[in-house]
Amino acid sequence: MSAETLTLRVQFPGLAGGWHYLDTAATAQKPQAVIDATVAAMGRDYATVHRGVYARSAEMTLAFEAARRRTAQFLGGREDEVVFTRGATESINLVAQTWAQDNMKAGDRILVSTLEHHANIVPWQMLRDRIGIEIDVCPLTADGAIDLEAAEKILDERHKLVALAHVSNVLGSVLHVEHAAKLAHNVGAKLLVDGCQAAPRIALDVAAMDCDFYAFSAHKLYGPTGIGVLWARREILEDMRPWQGGGAMIDRVTFDETTYAPAPQRFEAGTPMIIEALGMAAAMDWLEGVGLERALRHERELTAVLRRELAARNDVTVFGPEDSLGIVSFALDGVHPHDLGTILDEEAADGTRVAIRAGHHCAQPLMDHLGVPATARASFGLYSDESDIEALLKGIERTRRIFG
Ligand code: PMP
Repeated sequence: MSAETLTLRVQFPGLAGGWHYLDTAATAQKPQAVIDATVAAMGRDYATVHRGVYARSAEMTLAFEAARRRTAQFLGGREDEVVFTRGATESINLVAQTWAQDNMKAGDRILVSTLEHHANIVPWQMLRDRIGIEIDVCPLTADGAIDLEAAEKILDERHKLVALAHVSNVLGSVLHVEHAAKLAHNVGAKLLVDGCQAAPRIALDVAAMDCDFYAFSAHKLYGPTGIGVLWARREILEDMRPWQGGGAMIDRVTFDETTYAPAPQRFEAGTPMIIEALGMAAAMDWLEGVGLERALRHERELTAVLRRELAARNDVTVFGPEDSLGIVSFALDGVHPHDLGTILDEEAADGTRVAIRAGHHCAQPLMDHLGVPATARASFGLYSDESDIEALLKGIERTRRIFG
């Protein structure tokens, strides 16, 4: 175990004891710095934002808007392009129910891929059922990456939106976003990127990636649950009609008429996620403090080690491309992933327990494509190290002995 990794691990109270947490793709553990920021926001510094005339509220308003600036900086966009949502799921639904509903008509098409999370499938199906659009599915390459050559062949001027995951939550495959943006823009479509698994692992620059929408959740990047981000290009956001109505999103209300606040406030009805926004900003500070270059390198290395170790066993199938990032899905012959997950969770003789995810990972169409009902999935965070891999491999060996 490297000293560098050890220093990070001790910052995570959720990782105390002999627990090997390999479910970061579901949600990341929180560093003490984020916990402290959240506690201060909920305690010592707490007040509402945007309304109060008293000093505490004014200070909280400044901190809340600083969190928006922090987010803009984190993803390489403008502050007035950042909409706070409940999470990536809500971000994608917001686009489906506003921009897509208003800019698409029956017969128009959306391109998604085989590996999408349900959050990037179901909102488009609901839209399809409402307005009669069509959904095309971009296939994967043999090793499990989104096949952009195939995408190019499918796309034509009927496509108004391409919606793809930056990093697959099952296979760890990484999308070449700039290339996808070029293909989408060539036919006049917009590109929405589901960045849930990329935001904690890859330094983002929405301008360089040239996407039109980017969505992610704070809880996967070491921040709190309950908040996420929709970034959208300013000219798109300005034209989007409001979504939920209520306080904070208005300019003026009478019983005859309501006028709306400019974007992004227009999309943030009600008292916002004050505590969560400050927690998310603290998570971005923490993550950039560690360094996204280092995060990328660290996760690449651990992923490669685990893939190599699993591939060396003749009773394991490893899914996804060789260069996958942070996430490894696999199958142990003759053992259901749930049984493997349950055995790994039991305390081993050396006092260790291992937490992996077993299931369809909210990507049932991908499971159908792989021809399995579920996979076992190990995913890394910045606190992960080779001791986690060792514990997992020992646990797989123990399971093998039980199942014979
Ligand atoms: N997309 C991807 C790729 C994900 O991994 C997840 C979370 N598993 C989501 C979307 C949905 O994120 P949330 O549940 O935080 O809204």
